[in-house]
Amino acid sequence: MDGLKKRDPEVYRAILDETKRENENLELIASENFVSEDVLEAQGSALTNKYAEGYPHARWYNGCHNADVVEELAIERAKRLFGAEHVNVQPHSGTQANMVIYFAMLKPGDTVLAMDLACGGHLSHGHPHNFSGKLFKMVPYGVNRKTEMLDYDEIAAKAKEHRPKMILAGASAYPRTIDFKRFRQIADSVGAFFFVDIAHIAGLIAAGLHESPVNYAEFVTSTTHKTMRGPRGGFVMCRKEFAKKIDSEVFPGLQGGPLMHVIAAKAVCFKEALQPEFKVYQRQILKNSNALSTEMAKLGYRVVTGGTDTHLFLLDLTSKNITGKDAATALDRANITVNKNLIPYDKKSPFVASGIRVGTPAVTTRGMKEAQMKVIAHCMDKILSSPADEKVIEGVRKEVHGLVGRFPLYKDLIKRIDR
Ligand code: PLP
Repeated sequence: MDGLKKRDPEVYRAILDETKRENENLELIASENFVSEDVLEAQGSALTNKYAEGYPHARWYNGCHNADVVEELAIERAKRLFGAEHVNVQPHSGTQANMVIYFAMLKPGDTVLAMDLACGGHLSHGHPHNFSGKLFKMVPYGVNRKTEMLDYDEIAAKAKEHRPKMILAGASAYPRTIDFKRFRQIADSVGAFFFVDIAHIAGLIAAGLHESPVNYAEFVTSTTHKTMRGPRGGFVMCRKEFAKKIDSEVFPGLQGGPLMHVIAAKAVCFKEALQPEFKVYQRQILKNSNALSTEMAKLGYRVVTGGTDTHLFLLDLTSKNITGKDAATALDRANITVNKNLIPYDKKSPFVASGIRVGTPAVTTRGMKEAQMKVIAHCMDKILSSPADEKVIEGVRKEVHGLVGRFPLYKDLIKRIDR
């Protein structure tokens, strides 16, 4: 980055500062992760220059042979990883991947049954300001008030009542496994398409630690940047019979030129996910999530649903007399990053929220294990018990500094660019 440093010092400084911030913070946002330097290199490559509208060997412009190589590698690796019949790696994001399915399979006004945002669903599953909520008749299903888990009988009853054209499973803040077989049965009972958004749990599925929906659903979408630990982006998987429909909905339906540098980075990410170490990594994410949530429960915090089967969990802070917003702000001051989150049937607004969402993919990437999760739990407890005490915040910030120092991130990269 010597050239950038000389010619555009403002951008150079922001990149350097962000790399340092990531190294110096305890990242517990469940949807974030740290990519390998190989992924960074692929994404920062000359492939960003190439217009490659179309698909491998059927492009609109010439000069696409290298673009073809990386896109075919990404497709072939994703197919192997998930056992999918057809894969499209061009969606720029998870939301766009979802949009592809809605637009390919539905008409405006069609009914879709999807998880309630207030119970863990994503914006693109029906938020009124999102295209999904504006264009389609979204019928939300929630979780059981008592167990806070999906209630499949209730989902089946809603399907019978509303006869949706499509049923969508998947979430942003649901800590338990999802029974895709049961969802398939419900979809079949009303003749609906079944669509699963695995943006959060794709890494667990790739590692065989969560059941795969690929054999149950017509359509599966995902992001590549959460548990998958790849570049920011999306992809779609479907049965062969829908391949043409899906491909033409991505391009020319919803996008122009694919981001070939990102697709190269997706290919690298999929190769990394095919290695045996990826399974070890995903297993450790789960062990860490379980260890951290268990320790928080021991410290007197209510864990939504009583625990977790995944990379994330929700803490209900109601009895601690602190809102999710204030909790996230106080933790941030001690260099611990989480996000405020609604808990099921929350009485507070999404801007305040009664809970926080905590995830372990990023800290696990740094090499942290169960012992460190205990330390993190105690750090969080200190802050959440005295969120306005400057001395406590300063003390925890020092503890965090010591902890992250033992698990350095992008150490060589920072050394190389901070000269
Ligand atoms: N689907 C789910 C379940 C998500 O949690 C998210 C992101 O948080 C997305 C889709 C959207 O991904 P993107 O931010 O890439 O649009």
